[in-house]
Amino acid sequence: MTALVLIEIENGRVRQASRSAIAAASRFGEVDALLLGEAGAEVAARLSGIRKVLHVPALKHALAEPAAALLAGLAGSYSHILSAASSTGKNILPRLAGLLDAQPISDVVTIQDESTFVRPIYAGNALATVQSSDSVRIMTIRSSSFDPVAEDGGSASVEVLDAPANEGKSSFVKLDQSQSDRPELEVARVVISGGKGLKDASNFHTLLEPVADKLGAAIGASRAAVDSGFAPNEMQVGQTGKVVAPELYIATGLSGAIQHLAGMKDSRVIVAINLDPEAPIFKVADYGMVGDLFEILPALAKAL
Ligand code: FAD
Repeated sequence: MTALVLIEIENGRVRQASRSAIAAASRFGEVDALLLGEAGAEVAARLSGIRKVLHVPALKHALAEPAAALLAGLAGSYSHILSAASSTGKNILPRLAGLLDAQPISDVVTIQDESTFVRPIYAGNALATVQSSDSVRIMTIRSSSFDPVAEDGGSASVEVLDAPANEGKSSFVKLDQSQSDRPELEVARVVISGGKGLKDASNFHTLLEPVADKLGAAIGASRAAVDSGFAPNEMQVGQTGKVVAPELYIATGLSGAIQHLAGMKDSRVIVAINLDPEAPIFKVADYGMVGDLFEILPALAKAL
């Protein structure tokens, strides 16, 4: 069996989530990587555990329509096609599955054998074991469940492929991407999140950032905080946001609604700071501080 992994490059490096998908794919046998866009073929070729990099420089913006058409053309050579459960993967692989009349399997957390996979359902409250009888198994991988392969150590060959003809169904307009020196939320070792209790956007900067700076942490937010304009959408953690499983998750001024827990309850150590001792976040917290975050966070930054 040979698996194909759609990989993503960010800031000149293969994203950690893609490297986790490669680690997952290696359970099936040999692994090839598919890279869309001009840059990164040499970086991808150095990845550990890759046999071959298929590079498609002409597909610059990973639009779902041409990318899925390309993958459908390659599918006959592969037993499994994977990607990270990222925006790109979630955009392209379901369309590919539609083209192949296959059932995509999303957010895989465990691979039992080549056709049996475990994935969360009901906002992470249950785990479903699913079996696929498709000839090509298509799946997105939850990165927190698989240790990424190393960025170096490999020497894969690179094969350049042409892009399929553009059917004109979609075109790239522009990319709005926020720049941050902080670690990526989904793979950060430490995450500190704020909720509605932060009261406004400026408090995200003045209260969360000093603690995050000291801990080298990524900053997350509850949906209520995002909906209130305290934090940008890409910082949302939860069922309809990002799924994180850091070594340390500090939840401040957020109640711990079930949809938020779906995105962070697998964190190794959870610390909650909340005024309300009955807040549901304390049910999953390893350490709880009942108190006012406006006093605790500055004291914590100072102590650190
Ligand atoms: P609140 O529930 O208002 O909690 C604020 C907390 O701050 C309270 O517990 C309060 O005691 C505390 N607080 C207030 N002041 C202070 C202070 N000074 N010091 C300390 N603590 C203080 N939510 C997500 O987060 N992520 C998701 O992905 C998500 N997806 C959803 C999908 C669906 C389909 C639906 C229906 C909902 C979803 N939600 C999601 C929303 C979720 O149900 C909650 O509404 C939301 O998580 C609440 O955010 P919050 O905890 O910040 O706000």
